[in-house]
Amino acid sequence: MTGPGRSHRKGITLLALARRYPNEEAAREWFEAIYWPEGRFCPQCRGTDTYACPQQTMPYRCRTCRKRFSVRTGTVLQASRLPLLQWTYAIYLEMTALKGVSSMKLHRDLGITQKSAWFMLQRIREAFAPLAAAAFEGPVEANETYGWGQGGQQARAQEAESGTRNGW
Ligand SMILES: [Zn+2]
Repeated sequence: MTGPGRSHRKGITLLALARRYPNEEAAREWFEAIYWPEGRFCPQCRGTDTYACPQQTMPYRCRTCRKRFSVRTGTVLQASRLPLLQWTYAIYLEMTALKGVSSMKLHRDLGITQKSAWFMLQRIREAFAPLAAAAFEGPVEANETYGWGQGGQQARAQEAESGTRNGW
């Protein structure tokens, strides 16, 4: 992966986020853009001949294998019942917190249980960090994206001073 190395964070603001993702529908479109950058495909057979059908939880169907699916199918989101909108905010909060966000803060800010918050954070750190960095108009730095819990702020400050960056 390539990307600009920046000495400061330049993401979107919380207000911009709220404007861009006002509802579940907008959040779903965002996840679809992340998972299907080149167009929707069936997560079961990877067929691209799919169509939308009016159903809340499984809004698409594959003509090849005839199975229904959603953007969650076959991803880390599958086991979660939380709305995608909450996932969007959780990812945002995690990506914009220098040291990562705590499950306690997510629990309070999103009105979800701490257990759910912990679960989300694990998934976000495993799966979404690289994807979401770009989607939030980056440039969220590589070190901040991958280095959570390692060097912390101090190490990053030193890096910023010396001007060295690991890049992406
Ligand atoms: Zn299929």
